[in-house]
Amino acid sequence: MAMTKENILIINCGSSSLKFAVINPSSGEEFINGIAERLGEAEAFIRWKFQGNKESETLNGGAHDAAVEALLHMLEAKGLKEGIAAVGHRVVHGGETFKESCIVTKEAMQAIEDCTHLAPLHNPANLVGIKAAQKHFPGLPMTVVFDTSFHQSMPDKAFTYAVPYKFYRENGLRKYGFHGTSYRFVSRAACEMLDLDISNSKILIAHLGNGASCAAVLNGESMDTTMGLTPLEGLVMGTRCGNIDANVFSFLNKEYGYSIEEITDILNKKSGLLGISELSNDCRVIEEAYMEGNKQATLAMDVFCYVLAKQLAGMAVATGGVDALAFTGGIGENSDIIRGKVVEALAFLGFELDKQRNLDCRFGNEGVISSDTSRATALVVSTNEELMIAKDTAALIS
Ligand code: AMP
Repeated sequence: MAMTKENILIINCGSSSLKFAVINPSSGEEFINGIAERLGEAEAFIRWKFQGNKESETLNGGAHDAAVEALLHMLEAKGLKEGIAAVGHRVVHGGETFKESCIVTKEAMQAIEDCTHLAPLHNPANLVGIKAAQKHFPGLPMTVVFDTSFHQSMPDKAFTYAVPYKFYRENGLRKYGFHGTSYRFVSRAACEMLDLDISNSKILIAHLGNGASCAAVLNGESMDTTMGLTPLEGLVMGTRCGNIDANVFSFLNKEYGYSIEEITDILNKKSGLLGISELSNDCRVIEEAYMEGNKQATLAMDVFCYVLAKQLAGMAVATGGVDALAFTGGIGENSDIIRGKVVEALAFLGFELDKQRNLDCRFGNEGVISSDTSRATALVVSTNEELMIAKDTAALIS
């Protein structure tokens, strides 16, 4: 394989997993992708997809360091290592320090560590991934791309919680928002698809995956978003409750004796589509049951779509009007049922659904789903956070 040294290795490190991909930032071509899972357990393994073939290897109980070492050897064996120009790391929380992606330096590492109280599970894992990559890929420049940084353009009226202000002043308690890399990619892609000038555009985006949020993007900048201090706030998600009365904490404590940790676990892992449907967090399962008339699945779908439409209407306040509404993420890119319900609920904002176009946009097909007479355009955009990280990294090292 002819290979110039311009590809980017993307690393997305979680507490017990490590996702990776090698991407050409110009063409978007993905040479390999994979994941190491169950890191630190006896069953730890790494698997990848290369030239259409799926392969895997055991890590013999190894953790992140072993995973990155195995990744290095595998990339060497496949002849991919020599084409890698830099490593781009996805980092969850950049607090108020990181307003954009940057090169990894000692200071940047310290600043990511300083944000740990904002993302106690994620940021330490991200740092472990960066350190392992520095050890096994010495000499390669590294960058960090944050889920939060795109939303740093939000005005203070959008990110301030109405609680004693000292909690913000002393500890950074505020709305940060997530999925920023996806919003950056999708807002640009939507403007390209619709031939809109991004510097004069009002775009609403619904990123609907197992985690879900929506955002208001005005002239290319985030003005508001539904996720908050943590990804729990906002929309109904696979297992997260989204917006609720904060007094639910004391209610569940009094009625069931649950601790703060137990309630946090319920609201993050046992709520959302799973909690209401009592079936699954997987939208496909819910949709199937809904089509068969299952009552709980129908209620889960109704609440999901109603909350989403209501939040999107609120986002239109932040943009002061809507040129386009883009759906993305596993649900946004595939569920014609949810998109249809939401676009129809937003008819008063000027949306008119084209049912056939909506049906056609599934399984990787992007495009407009509103009618030619619709005053605002609804469309489906396939998000590509890895490509955005690769592009940021290429720009930073050039
Ligand atoms: P993500 O986190 O972006 O990978 O999205 C995962 C979510 O997308 C899950 O809830 C899936 O059920 C949902 N999803 C994937 N494919 C489909 C589909 N064909 N129809 C409905 N939902 C889907």
